[in-house]
Amino acid sequence: MAQVEKRESSAPAPAPLEWEYAPAPEARDVVQLEERYGLFVGGEIVQPQTGEWFASISPSTEETLFEVALAGEADVDGAVGAARDAYENGWSGLAPSERAKYLFRIARILQERSRELAVAESLDGGKPIRESRDVDIPLAAAHFFYYAGWADKLEYAFPNRTPEPLGVAAQIIPWNFPLLMLAWKIAPALACGNTVVLKPAETTPLTAMIFADVCRQAELPPGVVNLVTGDGTTGAHLVRHDGIDKLAFTGSTEVGKLIMRELAGRDVRLTLELGGKAANIVFDDAALDQAVEGIVNGIYFNQGHVCCAGSRLLVQESIYEPLLEKLKRRLSTLRVGDPLDKNTDVGAINSKAQLEKIRELVASGEDEGAEIFQPECELPERGYWFVPTLFTNVAQSYRIAQEEIFGPVLSVLTFRTPEEAIEKANNTPYGLSAGVWTEKGSRILWMVERLRAGVVWANTFNRFDPTSPFGGYRESGFGREGGRHGLEPYLRLE
Ligand code: NAP
Ligand code: MG
Repeated sequence: MAQVEKRESSAPAPAPLEWEYAPAPEARDVVQLEERYGLFVGGEIVQPQTGEWFASISPSTEETLFEVALAGEADVDGAVGAARDAYENGWSGLAPSERAKYLFRIARILQERSRELAVAESLDGGKPIRESRDVDIPLAAAHFFYYAGWADKLEYAFPNRTPEPLGVAAQIIPWNFPLLMLAWKIAPALACGNTVVLKPAETTPLTAMIFADVCRQAELPPGVVNLVTGDGTTGAHLVRHDGIDKLAFTGSTEVGKLIMRELAGRDVRLTLELGGKAANIVFDDAALDQAVEGIVNGIYFNQGHVCCAGSRLLVQESIYEPLLEKLKRRLSTLRVGDPLDKNTDVGAINSKAQLEKIRELVASGEDEGAEIFQPECELPERGYWFVPTLFTNVAQSYRIAQEEIFGPVLSVLTFRTPEEAIEKANNTPYGLSAGVWTEKGSRILWMVERLRAGVVWANTFNRFDPTSPFGGYRESGFGREGGRHGLEPYLRLE
């Protein structure tokens, strides 16, 4: 049994240990960067017909990592044509169990190449390696495993109906979870027998280009998956193309609205996964330390570049002070810096444009009268960074309580009764997610019935699983991804 040394009661308590962290960088050379990445069309890497290329940079160092093709109208047309050929000449007629084998193979290769993919994701997008390694890449593989299992069971998913694929699915994704969003889009589309043309985001094309190689490694028939890199204009060409049967978009509400207008009157099935301004609601009977971890995970995970981020904290008034004290102390321990360092909690802001957007909204919060708290924090000299921030004294009308900041910035509000919590939580044009922290199961159920959000987490936050549907209400979009629900947008059900 260990000896316990007795201390004189008058002796001062020992100073808390200050740990110095040694750098713990992940090896960068597990990724062999090419100088230029072409488009992936019909199973081949092809040069863009525009003859144009653009640079993808590392947001943590501002260095140019590689160049990538800027696809124009003719390139998009070629990709849609390749997807149509593949659909009609093989893929849609393939036995579903054969389709499943390709998906299983892709899932296995993603696992095998997970270290390379994690480093690539952190390098190109700025997210901490801990997150790309433990969240993005494993979940992307899990998505392919999950939908591989559905490929030959579609008639059981929809009893008494005949599920048929739609045809060519056009898919447009954002930069916050590049490979994971690709998996959310491609896995169900292929499982249901469709072929795909996907456009990655301008700032994060790298893991999609590695995915092209994964498709070739899995010997996926040419043209089943096509990848067109570019900017918003490339996305617009894809939306306008008359050869698509389905459009799946994840991104901003603004672009979502543009797309909806463009598709009005056309026979194209649409799903939109848009923004959010989630309430994370803490009642006075919640386990406070756990709640603090959930709040931190809710808003500082992935630099707050998360559509379902818990960006509005609603705290019951009676625990406001102790909770805020714990939260501020926890904020001071977050390590901001090199995304490839395994000790990093908060990485780089994805782009200069996003950093400016965050700065502008934070300035508006100060102007409108909110009180800002930022822990002391040394930021690297180069790259795009923002200190984890929280605002107190926030009125519901402030822009920081209404608009999506999409950065590591939390707005704290208070409430007295569950009714008031509901009223404040639902006071948003969005409806993607919410969190409830309480020991009482009946209160969780009472809240869930009243919260207008697609996903409600109880005593946890930002938990994902391929079996669970995800999606929004109102300005957060429509349609569900994940789970059995995630099959429906890719099927015609007779
Ligand atoms: P964004 O500007 O809407 O971009 C999303 C994608 O659309 C990108 O690939 C973008 O290309 C492309 N795009 C831009 N303009 C287009 C147009 N006119 N027509 C067709 N495509 C176009 O959004 P973002 O700023 O990249 O991403 C952040 C937003 O996405 C946030 O509001 C966030 O809430 C939302 N989001 C939602 C979910 C969800 O599941 N609900 C998930 C992640 C993110 P470029 O990158 O080349 O400009
Ligand atoms: Mg980049």
